[in-house]
Amino acid sequence: MAVLPIITAPDPRLKKKSKPIVTVDAEVRQLMDDMLETMYAAPGIGLAAPQVGVLKRVIVLDIEREDVKTGPLCMANPEIVEASDEDAVYEEGCLSLPEHYSEVVRPAKVTVRYRDRDNAEQQMVCEGLLATCVQHEIDHLDGILFVDHISALKRNMILRKLLKTRKEKEREAAEGKAAAPKPKVKETAPAL
Ligand SMILES: [Zn+2]
Repeated sequence: MAVLPIITAPDPRLKKKSKPIVTVDAEVRQLMDDMLETMYAAPGIGLAAPQVGVLKRVIVLDIEREDVKTGPLCMANPEIVEASDEDAVYEEGCLSLPEHYSEVVRPAKVTVRYRDRDNAEQQMVCEGLLATCVQHEIDHLDGILFVDHISALKRNMILRKLLKTRKEKEREAAEGKAAAPKPKVKETAPAL
């Protein structure tokens, strides 16, 4: 297994539509395992393949909260086949938009169909944080970020700050300064 570099916005690869998996073979399983390791190292609770620069329809999740404990989940070609009329609001974060959070409204309950690590077709009913997480990750496969669900004003503010941070880091690297220590991710705001 390997920890892969995570792409951060703005990056054109995060805006692309990913291709379906034909069959979950050894290569896809390797990608799933590497993505899980990358997600745990980040740390995060969900990761989509485009976030590591692979434009394939693969996501991984592992939620461990008081109300939900999923264990590691690997999904190829995940698809929402049913969504509730009722909505839920969560403060979302994203490993590709580090240190930025915003409240996003999504259906509270969804049914997701996918291929598991053994290429078997599965269907799962997701509620609460798991429902939010699954929808957030599937969005990544269609080139959608959580900031695309919020106002243009707030989205542009976040993207401008990310670009500024990246330029500062590049300048510091060029000047040979050590990077500032990475701040801890807020416990209440999951990084997906
Ligand atoms: Zn994300």
